[in-house]
Amino acid sequence: MLWAKVKRMSIHQDPATGVARQGSLRARNLSLVARHVFAAHTPPARTDVAKATGMTRSTASRMVDDLVAAGIVGESTPAPATGRGRPATPLHARAGTFTALGLEINVGHCAARLVDLAGNVMAAADMTADNTGPDPADALTRLASLARQCLEALPAAATLAGIQLAVPGLVDRQSHMVLRAPNLGWHDVDPRPVLRDGGLPEIFEVDFGVVNEADCAAIYVAHERPGHPGPLDTFLYLSGEIGIGSALVVSGSVSLGPRGWAGEIGHTCIDPAGPRCSCGATGCLERYAGTRALTKLVGVDAIESVRDACLAGEAAAVDAVHAAGRALGLALANAGNLLDITTIVLGGDLALLIEEYRPFIEHELDTRLLARPFTEPRLLATTTDHAAPAFGAAYVGLDRILDDPARWTPSQGTGESLNDLLD
Ligand SMILES: [Zn+2]
Repeated sequence: MLWAKVKRMSIHQDPATGVARQGSLRARNLSLVARHVFAAHTPPARTDVAKATGMTRSTASRMVDDLVAAGIVGESTPAPATGRGRPATPLHARAGTFTALGLEINVGHCAARLVDLAGNVMAAADMTADNTGPDPADALTRLASLARQCLEALPAAATLAGIQLAVPGLVDRQSHMVLRAPNLGWHDVDPRPVLRDGGLPEIFEVDFGVVNEADCAAIYVAHERPGHPGPLDTFLYLSGEIGIGSALVVSGSVSLGPRGWAGEIGHTCIDPAGPRCSCGATGCLERYAGTRALTKLVGVDAIESVRDACLAGEAAAVDAVHAAGRALGLALANAGNLLDITTIVLGGDLALLIEEYRPFIEHELDTRLLARPFTEPRLLATTTDHAAPAFGAAYVGLDRILDDPARWTPSQGTGESLNDLLD
């Protein structure tokens, strides 16, 4: 008992007051319970939640009651009883109560997705547009109008819990600034005032964040629905648009780096003597395998036309696609040696050309990966849905509810005993 108390205090002691705070204990337990219910492959009952979290049955049950009352967790009809006692009530993510709006701004398009905790898409809007230029106001105003369309579909009974914006560049998660998005031509942009003036006052009223678009897309790929990991949990995701971003997912979580800026594989060097990149350097990966580089080399408007020309055997297209495949192979072999990751998922425009790229990528991995004799690299394509970052942004917003469900549940300040945790 003494050991347990010491251990618990070391976790929950408030550094300012030296007093263990029951509020933070309850908040942590609510999050544990919510995460377990959302991640479970079979809808768990209260007893399953208690077992999985190590809480007493009464504590787990009270947490579930609070989450049900808040509309975060739902209760299904119990299966007919087969033995003694009352049948257990299965728990699941509640649909139609809390939503998050995922926004995406990319070089050639923008997108908005309104998603609820069960993963239902309650509204979607897309627009093709040139979003480049030193003044981001036009692009952000377009995005605000898409956001407005989605929010008009928000049912009166549902709550908008947050808005997250996915951008192809470096962001500051604390100040919500887009620090540098070279393909958009943006530097030090605060998107909030323009989004507000464009008709989205909610941007200052709800939980808001700016996230890298490849990180968002990777989160979408790693999850079957919000808070529910899918079968792929450790992989390197490459997002192919005008630029190329990447995200390293380990055990279902994106490895962001200390400042959130990891994953800029599009600006790793393939050839220092290569063409100039939007970042100012030369010979970056995206100057070979990015959509703009390929369409320009082939003299067409769309990546689909690049693939058609390549399949038709047109020399310029074949040369460009093969060079892109080699460049991807070099970058992925370097990344594989550095990160010990051999499951690679291509998304966006890269996914469209995966079979053309595959032999080149495999050749470079076979040649350069030190661990190749002991590992079988996997090269997979995911959805070519260009709104993957918008979906992922919505998932980020919903995940913040699971991080701290106490924000959304009625206060139970006197309901919990510290001894509840001491089994
Ligand atoms: Zn570059």
